Amino acid sequence: MNRKPLLAGNWKMYKTSRQAREFFQDILARLNPFPADREVAFGVPFTSLEAAVQAVSGTPIIIAAQNVHWEPEGAFTGEVSAPMIAAAGAGAVIIGHSERRQLFGETGPGVNKKIKAVLPAGLRPIVCLGETLAEREAGLTFEVLAKQLAEALAGLEKAAPGALDLAYEPVWAIGTGRTATPETAQEAHAFIRGWLAEKISPAAAGATRLLYGGSVKPDNAAQLMAQPDIDGALVGGASLTADGFAKIIQYDRS
Ligand code: PEP
Repeated sequence: MNRKPLLAGNWKMYKTSRQAREFFQDILARLNPFPADREVAFGVPFTSLEAAVQAVSGTPIIIAAQNVHWEPEGAFTGEVSAPMIAAAGAGAVIIGHSERRQLFGETGPGVNKKIKAVLPAGLRPIVCLGETLAEREAGLTFEVLAKQLAEALAGLEKAAPGALDLAYEPVWAIGTGRTATPETAQEAHAFIRGWLAEKISPAAAGATRLLYGGSVKPDNAAQLMAQPDIDGALVGGASLTADGFAKIIQYDRS
């Protein structure tokens, strides 16, 4: 199964629309020619969505939101819906990031509702999962991943294989500088792919891209990406500088 690698940045709560425009001017100059054998996406704050979409127009870069509400519209102060994100020109949404789960009370069933709202709006879900340090140390990693997968994908058994991307992001590796070793990441990815094969379908397991996230940097990207079940990276801190993220995008695939 040919899964085109996806390098996705997650800007979190960084960059105004002006800073976003400046960033894309810089990184597009560095990505010339644009590497055709990989996909690139950026999760930007809602306020920068339209500026980012304009800045990358005419390039293959996909702009993503970092969250979404599951209803199309309504009395939900402060929320933004999938049709609104699509109308802004975005192509994807990051769902269930561990910061949203830990700091904003995001739940597994909520993640599931968001995925189901995003797909019909023509947006690609990038769904995050991963264990905490305490869970890993207690030997619960696979149990936690299985629960998060079951919750996120409930009722989605008939979705087109490969309709969404999954990002394995061990919480202990996010923003800590402590990257999972390629072997540790591969082990978790192999578990996730096995779970998909068993609980959804072999076709879904073969078609679903599994991204690794957690302190990916220019000097460790190629090693991680060389693992057989790692199909991409979700990159926080290192996606904020054009120089660093261009190097990650241009990781050596040979
Ligand atoms: C993230 O925000 O999804 C992430 C992986 O962050 P960092 O790369 O900074 O660890």
